Amino acid sequence: MVSPLSGSISPLPASRAACAALDAQDPLAPLRAKFDLPEGVVYLDGNSLGARPVAALARAQDVIAREWGHDLIRSWNTAGWFELPGRLGDRLAPLIGAAKGEVVVTDSTSLNLFKALAGALHMQAGGAGAARRVIVTERGNFPTDIYMAQGLAGWLARGYTVRLVDSVEELPAAIDADCAVVMLTHVNYRTGYQHDMAAMSAHAHAQGALIVWDLAHSAGAVPLDLHAGGADLAVGCTYKYLNGGPGAPAFIWVPKRHQAAFAQPLSGWWGHANPFAMGPEFAPIDGIGRALCGTQPIISLTLVECGLEVFEQTSMEAIRAKSLALTDLFIALVEARCAGHGLGLVTPREHARRGSQVGFTHDHGFAVMAALIARGVIGDYREPAIMRFGFTPLYTSFTDVWDAVEILRDILDNGAYDVAAMRGAVT
Ligand SMILES: *Cc1c(COP(=O)(O)O)cnc(C)c1O
Repeated sequence: MVSPLSGSISPLPASRAACAALDAQDPLAPLRAKFDLPEGVVYLDGNSLGARPVAALARAQDVIAREWGHDLIRSWNTAGWFELPGRLGDRLAPLIGAAKGEVVVTDSTSLNLFKALAGALHMQAGGAGAARRVIVTERGNFPTDIYMAQGLAGWLARGYTVRLVDSVEELPAAIDADCAVVMLTHVNYRTGYQHDMAAMSAHAHAQGALIVWDLAHSAGAVPLDLHAGGADLAVGCTYKYLNGGPGAPAFIWVPKRHQAAFAQPLSGWWGHANPFAMGPEFAPIDGIGRALCGTQPIISLTLVECGLEVFEQTSMEAIRAKSLALTDLFIALVEARCAGHGLGLVTPREHARRGSQVGFTHDHGFAVMAALIARGVIGDYREPAIMRFGFTPLYTSFTDVWDAVEILRDILDNGAYDVAAMRGAVT
């Protein structure tokens, strides 16, 4: 039985048939049909690139043939292209505990992070935090987050430094009287560790800092409540758990309470109060629109809606219960059936500290993952030595978990991997 409260399964299923029985009683199982997944593939990489919603193909056809091809430039008005960032943001908002008018889907996560960080520094500079000069983040954060902060400190925000903290335990002390902004990724991309958002935000505020949360591995994966979590600003990705499509625009959240004070340096015309007045002076629009910069990739943007539509047919609570059941099952089966092969779990066992992915280290992690992919089990590899498996309750089944573990066991039992496996440009 899947317990809706804990998500844990007991006893541990001992056969594929037992996993199929779990699928038969899974309330989310019918949603798998909303995605087009190839036969013979166990897809455990939806944390990196979500699967394609079935609806995306017809939507792409319509936007290209009719909206662009036939209606041409009129579609900015007639198809609502111009309002799309805000309309999609409102649709995404319930997944992250945001209100309407607080989110826009736009630009990349990297760019939105730059805007959010610059905006947070600007708020501090104009208030009680004017003397603070440090951005605190984790050394283990996703690299682009660190790089964007370094870029900001190196160019626009001269005199600011980026303080990299080595462990979660060291974070509280690193958030001190010099800290202007804390920038954390809520679920770590490598380990799947989930921060306690409310506790960390409260600590940052108690020290006089603002906090920016990156939800790249959280949105659509775990229930979120940015307001209750005390976040100041947030960004996130739509092409991972939200299934928006490769390179789909990301999102940025600015809560109503900060919108009047929020300003960002990428002050393009889409953030202008009256863009078609074509005036020579920038004047930001009221509300979340000031987080926009310029013209958006409309074709990609429209497809984000197809991913969001699927979420409206369930709840994040149901998704979370299944996510924990899937990750618990995967951990337990790997530890039971692949014992003695030197695998090391890097993901927290504690539910509250776990996202929706599981990582195991192996000395030949890259080669083992290459062998898994060759046999249709698609996860990915992250330095150092981590095989990463993402679990996406909308389309991952309990049988998928069983099959993935059995193929992993077979590869390890037989040493059926090539330690000289070649790496592509993207791992
Ligand atoms: C995936 C991810 C990104 C991706 O940023 P892009 O600008 O889309 O390349 C950024 N930050 C984190 C934490 C991520 O997991």
